[in-house]
Amino acid sequence: MIDDKAYSLSNVELLSDLSSGELAELASEFQWENYALGSEIIKQGQEEHAFYILIKGKADIMIRKEGHRMRRVRSLSPGDTFGEFSLLNGMAAASTILCLEECQVLALDSEGFARMLLRWPKLYQTFIGRLTQNLNEANLTLSEANYKEILRSALQLNQYKDKFYGLWGGARTTAEVERKLEELAQPKGHLLLTGERGTGRQMMAWYVHQRQSGTEAPFVVVDGRRFDQQWKDLIMEPASQEESSVVYNSNLFDIAEGGTLFIREINLISPHTQLKLAQSINSQRNKCFIIGGLDSEPDDLERIIIPELRKCFAHTYEITPLRKRKRDIPILAQGFLEKLAQKNQRNVPVLNQEATQLLLSHHYQQGNVSELIQVIERAFYIAEQDVIGLEQIFFGPTAEQNGHTINLLASPTLKGLLKKGELISWIRRVAAALFIGLVLLLLFNPQVAVSTKVFALVWGLWWPALALISPFLGRLWCTVCPFSTIMEFVQKRVHMNRAIPEFVIKYDYILVSFLFLTIFWVEVITDMRFNPSYTAVLLISIQVCAIIIAVLYPRHTWCKHFCPLGGFIGTASVGSMLEVRADPSVCLNKCTTFECYVGTENVPGCPMSQHLPFLDNNLDCKLCFNCVRNCPNGSVQVNLRLVGREVWHLVRVNQGFAVFIGVMLGILVPLYYLASFQRIEVSTSWKVWFSLFYWGAGLTGGMLAWMIVKPFKTKAASLRVKLIFAFTPLVLAGHIMYQAAYIPGISSLFLGIGYNAQSGLQSFYIPATALANGIAITFGLVLTGITIALVLLRTKEKRVARSDKLVR
Ligand code: SF4
Ligand code: SF4
Ligand code: SF4
Repeated sequence: MIDDKAYSLSNVELLSDLSSGELAELASEFQWENYALGSEIIKQGQEEHAFYILIKGKADIMIRKEGHRMRRVRSLSPGDTFGEFSLLNGMAAASTILCLEECQVLALDSEGFARMLLRWPKLYQTFIGRLTQNLNEANLTLSEANYKEILRSALQLNQYKDKFYGLWGGARTTAEVERKLEELAQPKGHLLLTGERGTGRQMMAWYVHQRQSGTEAPFVVVDGRRFDQQWKDLIMEPASQEESSVVYNSNLFDIAEGGTLFIREINLISPHTQLKLAQSINSQRNKCFIIGGLDSEPDDLERIIIPELRKCFAHTYEITPLRKRKRDIPILAQGFLEKLAQKNQRNVPVLNQEATQLLLSHHYQQGNVSELIQVIERAFYIAEQDVIGLEQIFFGPTAEQNGHTINLLASPTLKGLLKKGELISWIRRVAAALFIGLVLLLLFNPQVAVSTKVFALVWGLWWPALALISPFLGRLWCTVCPFSTIMEFVQKRVHMNRAIPEFVIKYDYILVSFLFLTIFWVEVITDMRFNPSYTAVLLISIQVCAIIIAVLYPRHTWCKHFCPLGGFIGTASVGSMLEVRADPSVCLNKCTTFECYVGTENVPGCPMSQHLPFLDNNLDCKLCFNCVRNCPNGSVQVNLRLVGREVWHLVRVNQGFAVFIGVMLGILVPLYYLASFQRIEVSTSWKVWFSLFYWGAGLTGGMLAWMIVKPFKTKAASLRVKLIFAFTPLVLAGHIMYQAAYIPGISSLFLGIGYNAQSGLQSFYIPATALANGIAITFGLVLTGITIALVLLRTKEKRVARSDKLVR
């Protein structure tokens, strides 16, 4: 049925800019309605009605004037829309829609209509375009319908003045702006406001308008980008004497009469229309105050605005970018939080020191103050406590889709399974039960564990399998990990929910690296791979640590900031072919509740504190699929993609994990060469030498990586970070080689070929371990080489694209 609706919507001209995916999304909001011949779909004066698209049949737009009979204004045929103008201006319906045949319509209620405009602002612009066209027609035909009023109220919707926070910064900045506002509010002539995107030109314009004309006067906002299409015909032509009788009787300045006309991005109006606008401004006899806004340095004005228009503006004021007045950032951020708390009747949260430092370290080149507002609003809505820390600050561009992907959720069966979550829950429970059974067996009946080969499977199959699977299927092990299931089971019953210490968040890579080094070292030194009881103690120790962290701290802090196994799998899965991602356009335009982060009544939020529109790497996604279940907007996708692609497209990542990669690479030499002597020489001196080499190599690898990728101020993935991540295939190959030696029976397995020669049967055999090592190292080296080349190539492409943009 949705397909039928989507098909019908695809034939509507108004919606022609929407993609098929967007049409399908929109279709789910519409309802079919049928009307008989002679019935009225909307009645003139009706207060509440929907937005309609006529799909089948014919109808007339009828207007009744007091004391007169109803008369036909226009006919409607399939594809035409009605009801939108009264929904836009909040007034009662201005006309009646009368069915001339049996009619079938798609109806969208007023809330759905508002959601549609928020989700697709381009549709809003299309409606405004239609209104201006109707105003032209109304002027020319002297129609009774007062389109000017309708247009004025529709455009005033566009000003978002309720969204202004009215904060300028610290005391110094505020005093300076207030002084300037006083000065600009004196009616000496029109004003040009310059400043980078998001610096608050519209808010400034609003406050100048408020001081000059008062809040009740019209404040009309139009956009220079669409000025030529929408407004060119509504600026008055200079009237020659012969023409004066046909001059339009209503124009753009009339709409803003007695108030302010704010033209955004005035420099984007074509030179011809700029000239026409300049002439119109000069002849409009102060009907309204005009403020032009544009993103430019004042020195460039002569270049981008024609002199005639430039001369129309008596003053110019430039708003300073946020990065040049960083002292204002903490005050603005806290001010936004106070206003949000007041509006939502909540306690005012405070930013902790680390979060404040992060806010100060950012450059806000994407959107200045508006970028800061978005970051703070997001942090406010997702914060569960009254302190906002690093985990709630999401910066920078939203995740981008790179290259082709296949969304597995397109399969209704898989989508249904993941949405319900029952199957995964059962697999988790079974895995946890098997794990408990295994630990008990290793602990209390080690001989049986050895004789039944169960013990051999733990080291010989589980570890190598993790190293082999993670580069392809990501953190799929974490989906069913028993450590996590048991930890979560306890956390649901006992939790203290303390704030995670900032040093843990900031230096988690050191904790993960240290625990990883320690576990490997203990394994080798205690000969754990041949000792079931020690193995059981290791597994229990990991589980106890995970439980303690889960009781103390929220969500899966253990998995995100401590787990060495998670660190290993996470790093391996950065380039894997499976990803969970959201559609940022849906998240930014449609979502106000952020369930992926916050959770719902039945399903907790992301255990790794991910906010989906910003999730653009696999390192911290443990494939729990909670977000698939929680998202009410169908934004989450589970994609198949090209292996390795993420590495050369990395935008942001926990840079510290480059150190972890250095550590993992460093220990391969002592593990591979020295640990193999362990079976021959188990003396204390060997242990001392091994320990020295092992820790020395691990720390050297980590330190080298640290020196290469520092500083760690932001999460931006620099070229150096990407180059170190490019070594992941080599690291994994090394670990696969090391683990392969422990696969049960592999040491006695030989692979070869034989043939009949004159001298008899000839055969060549090589040990299976040697073959596995050869394959692993070849793949590791080749994939690392390819990834490094692609990282360099992609960086070069980006630099060229950036310099091209600058030249343009
Ligand atoms: S991060 Fe560690 S504890 Fe958490 S699910 Fe993954 S392997 Fe298990
Ligand atoms: S993934 Fe869903 S819940 Fe999360 S921000 Fe996007 S739309 Fe909202
Ligand atoms: S909730 Fe989503 S983003 Fe978070 S870990 Fe689970 S699958 Fe990954």
